[in-house]
Amino acid sequence: MIRIRRVPLVTGVVLALLASFFFAVPVYVDGSMNRLDRSEGIAVTQRAHDLHATLAIGDLHDDLLLWDRGVMGPSSRGHTDVTRLARGNVAVQVFSTVTKTPKGQNYERNSAATDNITLLAIASRWPPRTYRSILQRALYQGRKLEEAEALSDGRLMIVRSGSELRNALARRDEWKGDAGTKPVIGILNTEGLQAIEGRIENIDTLFAHGFRMAGLAHFFDNEVAGSAHGEAKGGLTPLGRDVLRRMEDKGMLVDLAHSSPAAFAEALALAMKPVVVSHGGVQATCAGPRNLTDDQLRALAANGALIGIGFWDGAICGSSPHDIAKAIRHAIDIAGLEHVALGSDWDGATTVAVSGDSLVQVTQALLDSGFTEAEIRAVMGENLIRFLAIHLP
Ligand SMILES: [Zn+2]
Repeated sequence: MIRIRRVPLVTGVVLALLASFFFAVPVYVDGSMNRLDRSEGIAVTQRAHDLHATLAIGDLHDDLLLWDRGVMGPSSRGHTDVTRLARGNVAVQVFSTVTKTPKGQNYERNSAATDNITLLAIASRWPPRTYRSILQRALYQGRKLEEAEALSDGRLMIVRSGSELRNALARRDEWKGDAGTKPVIGILNTEGLQAIEGRIENIDTLFAHGFRMAGLAHFFDNEVAGSAHGEAKGGLTPLGRDVLRRMEDKGMLVDLAHSSPAAFAEALALAMKPVVVSHGGVQATCAGPRNLTDDQLRALAANGALIGIGFWDGAICGSSPHDIAKAIRHAIDIAGLEHVALGSDWDGATTVAVSGDSLVQVTQALLDSGFTEAEIRAVMGENLIRFLAIHLP
């Protein structure tokens, strides 16, 4: 005889609420914040498919690790996972980690006082150490990537040096499986150095945990630098100047995406090595505080920098692949071909038309816009791969 124990109504309601908080809420937030607008997608010719299959592709910015979604996938939510990136023929993906975002986040002005990530961390069942420590949030997301790599049968390879990158690319070339299952090479970034919690030693901690790139600021001014979306929008702090030198000494790439104009200029004046702007647009095709002026593009070229062009509305004032191509064309016209790359901001609380597995649409848009094959190869990934091979430690 089976005895069914009845759950008291109150307990049942509490359990249902807890279950929805811990499982439904992260799924809902992910699905509603990382939308795919297929209506802006474009038809792809056989020529574009054929060319795309021969490209060495790289992208400078993906926030997949923030979400309660399997790293390997495939998931139906958001824009990427390793499976979808592989289907899109992505060889190298920089995976960012997000540690603190303000309530009511906007491009104009945000205070550092509020934080959305605490609740997301609790709802997504992250370990309790991440509730209070934003450094631990970066390390936890980095760990997620490492755990996925360990179980991936070689389909995900995290690299931490130029020689590891070259070896991983060679292994990818020798891959025997289907084209759409080729390994994806990952590099760890953190978005905003609030993650060091005001202590320069934590640059060493991030480095020891495999981080090879870090943005100085994210949506608010922090202990290191002013944000383009902060309150004071100041330059580098004294700690920020020490941080930049420490990062360069270790071979960690400095990412100026989201930096205030003052922090951007001071960092470039101080930098002894090329920097990156991992994701953004150009003001010439999309005005606003998120995007680069022509003067900034010229300054970046003089520094030897790499500039990632984003796929979302805030970067390109649209989401059509043709809007991406327009911004890339302008960046090349001003900065020069070798300085321009992809910086999608996939899964960065963005709406895009092109997901990891439909990246061929960008190749199509570049062909439609009259780019030469050599230009397409450079922008789609050869520039990024060459840059990393030289500048990773
Ligand atoms: Zn960002």
